[in-house]
This record gives sequence, C-alpha cells and structure tokens, in this order.
Amino acid sequence: MRELLKSGAILGTVFFLQTAQALTFTPQGVAGEQHVAHVLNDQIKPNLIHLPPDEQKRLEHVEITVSTQLRLSGMALSLAEDKPEIMINAEYFQGLENYVEAYLIGRYTQQPHLPEQYMNYYFWHTHPVFDGPVPKAPMTWAGFQPADRIDFLEARDQLLANAVLDLLLHEIGHHAKDAFYHYRASQYMKQEKEEQADRWARQFRANYLPDESELGRLLSIGFIFERDRWSRLADDGYHPRLLEWVVDNAYAQCEDAEQIDTLAFCSELNANVDNYSSTEKAENAYRARVEAGEAYASFPLALILLQEQNIRAACRHFESSLRVANVSRAAFYMGQCYEEGMLKPTPPDSRVLALLAYQDAVQYGYSDAQESIEQLR
Ligand SMILES: [Zn+2]
Repeated sequence: MRELLKSGAILGTVFFLQTAQALTFTPQGVAGEQHVAHVLNDQIKPNLIHLPPDEQKRLEHVEITVSTQLRLSGMALSLAEDKPEIMINAEYFQGLENYVEAYLIGRYTQQPHLPEQYMNYYFWHTHPVFDGPVPKAPMTWAGFQPADRIDFLEARDQLLANAVLDLLLHEIGHHAKDAFYHYRASQYMKQEKEEQADRWARQFRANYLPDESELGRLLSIGFIFERDRWSRLADDGYHPRLLEWVVDNAYAQCEDAEQIDTLAFCSELNANVDNYSSTEKAENAYRARVEAGEAYASFPLALILLQEQNIRAACRHFESSLRVANVSRAAFYMGQCYEEGMLKPTPPDSRVLALLAYQDAVQYGYSDAQESIEQLR
C-alpha cells in the first residue's frame, strides 16, 4: 500500500513536470483578462496531474488567449491543428464582465431589471452605429456605491471567475477528449462533440472543484439572453441569435439547481424567457412594469409598439423613456416620431423638432442620426 502510494506520488510529479507547460495563457492587453490567468493557474492547472495521461498529453501544448479577432463567432473557439488553441472572444468576455457587475448591483439594490437596462445601454454603446466613448462600467453608470466596496468587488470577481471557469472547462474539454468537428459536420455530430466537452467539464468540476458556485454557466446564459432580447427588440442583426442555445442550456442548468442564488436566477430567467416567447406576452409584461412606475420599461415597450405599427403610442413611450429614464437611443426614434408627425406639433414645427431630436442623438454618439439629418435638409 505504502509502495503504491509512493509510486503514485512519483508518477504525479512526473506528469506535473510535463503539464507545467500545458494550457499556456498569453495576455493580449484585453481588460479583465487577468481573471482568465487567475482561474487557469489557481483552479485548473493544479488539478491537471489527476487526469489520465492521454488527456494530459493532449492538453500539453494548448495555448489560450482572449482574442479580439473573433468578432461575431460566439463565445470561444477551440482549434485542434498542429498548434492547438483556445480563443475566448474578447467582445463576449467584456460583455459578460459588465453583465456580471450589473447583475450583482441589481441583486444588492433589489432591482431585478437593472441588468436589462444596463445591457440596453451597453449594446447600443458598442454597436457599429455608435461613434462615441466606450460605455461606462455598471457601477459608474448606476452611480452605485456599495456600503462595503471591498466586499462587493470580491463578490463580483468571484462570480466572474465562476463564469470564466465554466467557459474554460468546456473548451479544455474539447481538447482533453479530442472532441472536434468540421464546421460542415452534421448537427448530430456537432451536438455529440459539444456534449462530450460538457460532460468532461462537469466531471472535472465534480471531481476537483465541487464547492464552486453553480452560477457560472447561468451568467453566460443570462448574458446571451440579454443580448438576444436586445437584438430582437432593436430589430437588429449585428449579433448572432442564440435563443435556442439559451433555452436548452437554461433548462439543463436549472433542472438540478440547489443553491439559493441559483434558484433565484433561474426563476427570473424563466420568467424572462417565457415573456420573450410571444410579442403579446412581452408587451403585457413591459406595460405592467411601466404601470408599476419603472421608467425604463417604456423604451422596450415603445420598440414593441413600433414593430406592431402602433406608432403613435410608441412615440409617447419613446418620449417618456428619454425624458424620465435618460435612454439616449430614444432621441433617434423621437426624431422619426416628429418627422412622421406622431408627437404633438406645437411650434416650432415638427420638422424643426425632428432635426433637434436627431441632433441630440448625434450628440449622444449615434452616427445613423446624421444620415437622417442630411435627408431632412
Ligand atoms: Zn463547445
């Protein structure tokens, strides 16, 4: 017995020497990427020695970066080729980071809709039509000053680390199990390989990091949900639509949830997804929020009314979302509303008011309002 343990320990050391080089992370200067290094070095790498030798071998030369080159291809990408790689999409990563902070502010201040409002601001301020400064972080945007700042920041970093851990383990799972596919592979084949990576990630957590919060994956799901909802409301095609992924993963993740914060997250997400399932439900939900006094809800309500061709009512809600909730994008729509004569044309005339509204929108950074101004002139 003693001998066995001893040789086991020696074997472990040998593999550790090999895997010390495994999963190399190279910083690219993307904000927040130190969280990736931290999760890799503190949580993942120390456990690699427990993996079967063939898995250790496959992970040996994997290089990890947070890449700004991926733009719209999802959350992360794993490549198997002579130079095996994991690339985390920087755009996704920064969105997630901000979402996590907004989510936590919402929880601290008991404003469950705060993340939605912040993400609306964020997605508009990172959209190609926007030509202005980078969006403010949620704490600055919300003017949030926690009673215990250190405690809040720790909780935020912890949550972000959870989300990063979830993402990394899935990608590492692709490499450990050699679970790759051609982009033209059948849907069945893709699903099979994705599940293989997921199973590996789940097993790794259960074996070596059993005390980690269950929220990690849910935060990714919540973020992608917000992005999908935003795209649909804005009737915008810039981001890929991933609602199916959201629904499948939320279901799988929430089914076995036990922790209190996870259950709360799941019930909020389920309610949101349910409201998202039909325009009528979404309209009613936002209407109820407006009636309960939430000024921001006027903006998504207006977007829905606009899609329903209920222009006059839409314009009234755009107006109040700009005046009361400072939703800057509403200025652009108000320009359209004045142009169409849908807001009361008191003097000066509606054309002048339309120009003024578009000018406001340009001031806020929306370059498409400039085109509207040129067309009006
Ligand atoms: Zn995958």
